[in-house]
Amino acid sequence: MPTKNTAKSNGSNGAGTPKKETMLFKFFHDQLKDVYYAEQQLVKALEEMKKACTTEELEDAFDNHCTQTSKHISRLEKVFAMIGKTPEGKKCEAMDGLIKEANSIIKETKQGSMTRDAALIIAAQKAEHYEIATYGGLVQLAMTLGKQNAATLLDKTLQEEEDTDRLLTDIAEQHINLDAEAEDAPQEMEEAEV
Ligand code: FE
Ligand code: FE
Repeated sequence: MPTKNTAKSNGSNGAGTPKKETMLFKFFHDQLKDVYYAEQQLVKALEEMKKACTTEELEDAFDNHCTQTSKHISRLEKVFAMIGKTPEGKKCEAMDGLIKEANSIIKETKQGSMTRDAALIIAAQKAEHYEIATYGGLVQLAMTLGKQNAATLLDKTLQEEEDTDRLLTDIAEQHINLDAEAEDAPQEMEEAEV
């Protein structure tokens, strides 16, 4: 009498009964859509941030991370396939907000200044930290849901986001922050401070 049990068996015996999705699985799928959208927005934002940089060093770092971000998008597409879903994004207010902040930093700092780079590094790190939190959570959820292959792929991206975060800290500490500290504020900024 397969009736009741089939519904509960999650279709794992392949009898053609579709697997019943749990709330946690739905949440996992939703978060995948969120980060898929976020990564796509980030590619565009990194292009803009790259153009706004003062130093070549930071420009190269943004350029590399831009290429890496495109890889993160294809990896997410593989994860969608692994869970039998079509890749699809969902508006991520958090990443939109972080990108908005990066754009205001570009407007509010002087072109060609080291202060611009010091500020861009922080803006980029805020986005990285958002990604680190998201991927960290997704890896754990994938493991809980028994999606080991998905967890492995997501963890690869997590490692790359962490490496980028560390690299940005190194770039800031090597000289950018100190050079920025030596820059004089434009007259109106000094007056505003008093
Ligand atoms: Fe990423
Ligand atoms: Fe990233």
